[in-house]
Amino acid sequence: MKAHDGLYIDGAWRPAASRNVIEVVNPADEQVVARVPAGDAGDVDTAVRAARAALPSWAATPPAERAARLAALRDVLVTRKDEIAETVTLELGSPPQFSQAVHAGVPIAVAGSYAELAATHPFEEKVGNSTVLHEPIGVVGAITPWNYPLHQIVAKVAPALAAGCAIVLKPAEDTPLTAQLFAEAVHEAGVPAGVFNLVTGLGPVAGQALAEHPGVDLVSFTGSTAVGRRIGALAGGAVKKVALELGGKSANVILPSADLAKAVNVGVANVMSNSGQTCSAWTRMLVHRDQYDEAVALAAAAAARYGDRIGPVVSARQRDRVRGYIETGVAEGARLVAGGPEAPRETGWFVSPTVFADVTADMTVAQEEIFGPVLTILRYEDEEDALRIANGTVYGLAGAVWAGDEAEAVAFARRMDTGQVDINGGRFNPLAPFGGYKQSGVGRELGGHGLAEYLQTKSLQF
Ligand code: NAD
Repeated sequence: MKAHDGLYIDGAWRPAASRNVIEVVNPADEQVVARVPAGDAGDVDTAVRAARAALPSWAATPPAERAARLAALRDVLVTRKDEIAETVTLELGSPPQFSQAVHAGVPIAVAGSYAELAATHPFEEKVGNSTVLHEPIGVVGAITPWNYPLHQIVAKVAPALAAGCAIVLKPAEDTPLTAQLFAEAVHEAGVPAGVFNLVTGLGPVAGQALAEHPGVDLVSFTGSTAVGRRIGALAGGAVKKVALELGGKSANVILPSADLAKAVNVGVANVMSNSGQTCSAWTRMLVHRDQYDEAVALAAAAAARYGDRIGPVVSARQRDRVRGYIETGVAEGARLVAGGPEAPRETGWFVSPTVFADVTADMTVAQEEIFGPVLTILRYEDEEDALRIANGTVYGLAGAVWAGDEAEAVAFARRMDTGQVDINGGRFNPLAPFGGYKQSGVGRELGGHGLAEYLQTKSLQF
């Protein structure tokens, strides 16, 4: 696709107020591939006004018609799947196959799920002598990260459209081209002017202006816990609804009865995919002490097999951050069994698939989100110890449990303080709610639970 030099507001590409631009850089070769406008508070205001003006008519549009626009949107995404994958690879650096299957494939499934939910959701229900109306919450300010650039957008925009909300999107500055492509798709799908608006720009400028804008009824944010905390405070001050999808440090608990080789191999693949830039990645592998050495050897071999197949991380800043964590791990006494801080290539922001053994629960690398291809392996004594370690961080986004017997794994999963647990590997379900316990967030995305975030209830008593 060709980059736009404008912002998509009220159904057309319009010049931004200032001439400031964001350079988009290919993380694989460090070359500038495009420039897009850096919108400011004035641009955000224009976009919010457009959304407010479009809201009443879209909110009153029958759900079946909203469903038809979502189905059209899914179809456009299917038609443009190759272009989506190429765009994500260009600005995120992910390997082409992964971009096809995941970065393009998952948003298509999610858009399709909301086309169906919009058509079937009970927007009105009877409760005793009352009728409960599920009405759109209003104008949504959506702020998204770069790690799954299209998925993060669709996970907010599709349910918002299904609910009858109007939206202003501020995507991550590292991946604005995917967002522009999405705006083209929304346009092609026949969503009315003003219902969806895109302001590319910097977080502390355009993002902050959107979060603070009095014309925004709900701020839906995905990103770091630090920025999420700020946005939550802003929203609290304004008594505005907020949904926060934040960081994670998820545990992959391998119980002694599990198929160890399978659990370790899938666990390593889970952490290395997308170069470790997955908020729900199982970055802490918990293994019983009797199986520990075998698990470490298996994990080191699995990580080494990744070699050159792993993509770069998104930016020099991210690469330096990840390397810093690897150095901290070494300094705190963890044992490197694969990878390390050295750059595997001269050009591009690559980090070697890295595995740490002899990690204890109090170490920085076992507590903080690294957001790179770094796995930590922790030893546990018994099940209670495993549970204490699994639940022993400020996060609670995802996790995994492996056991010979599914019921045994489920019994352990019930005791985990986390929003999603994969049992013996699991399988992605676009209808299952996704979101965090504890400091991993507020609210849920995907499926009917995700739709409910964009609705408010009114009850009529008879
Ligand atoms: P980030 O918080 O720096 O940025 C996320 C978004 O917020 C970007 O669009 C950015 O421009 C914007 N932003 C930055 N400062 C802002 C401010 N002051 N006001 C308003 N908006 C602002 O995070 P990132 O580095 O882009 O993404 C990585 C983080 O996101 C990781 O911590 C990861 O765990 C988290 N994440 C969470 C989920 C989830 O679903 N829970 C999914 C993906 C990523």
